[in-house]
Amino acid sequence: MLRHWPRLYRRCLRRRTELTLSDFSTPRSLVERVSRAIRDVPDFPKPGIIFKDITPVLSDPILLRDVVRAMQAPFATSDISHVVAVESRGFLFGVPMALALGAAFVPVRKPGKLPWRSARESYALEYGNDAIEIHTDALSAGARVLIVDDVLATGGTAAATCRLVERQGGQVIGVSVLMALGFLRGRDALGARRTYAVWDTD
Ligand code: AMP
Repeated sequence: MLRHWPRLYRRCLRRRTELTLSDFSTPRSLVERVSRAIRDVPDFPKPGIIFKDITPVLSDPILLRDVVRAMQAPFATSDISHVVAVESRGFLFGVPMALALGAAFVPVRKPGKLPWRSARESYALEYGNDAIEIHTDALSAGARVLIVDDVLATGGTAAATCRLVERQGGQVIGVSVLMALGFLRGRDALGARRTYAVWDTD
């Protein structure tokens, strides 16, 4: 299935049509490979959390190539100018996706980590608050932004990143993640935004 995707882009580019997310259900075989690779680590980093360890995906070069292709494929004809990725695991997928899309890469980081002037956005966690920052000169006016992370859980981080991008004058074209934890309903936090996950769990 995956090998047919480049043909689909070429056809869309020729016809100058926009790919929609419904054109991109992840091939079943890729979902199976990803779900076999991602490892559940109970009670990390604190009791009650089942941490989704993506390092086995990183250590399999063919799988890593295929998930990076899958994560950028729905947005390949969307004229993305900037890939904005969330510290730190989002960077691992965001950089190769930016290269594939011919887009700039922009890091979003936890407060105090970025060296230049930064804008901050706070968001609620289950217990307490957190915040993320972006350099104020990272996005040009009218930037067409794809937001990237490894895991979409409650959607709080991705929604805060959308607000941060929009406050800087960027337009959020979509959100792309390796996996979405369906039971936490992160997609609801993102409203009508185009959100793609290689693997959606129930
Ligand atoms: P959320 O804001 O709840 O959608 O959480 C998403 C952010 O937290 C992403 O940057 C993820 O890397 C991280 N995250 C949340 N839950 C998990 C989990 N169960 N396993 C691994 N990372 C997670």
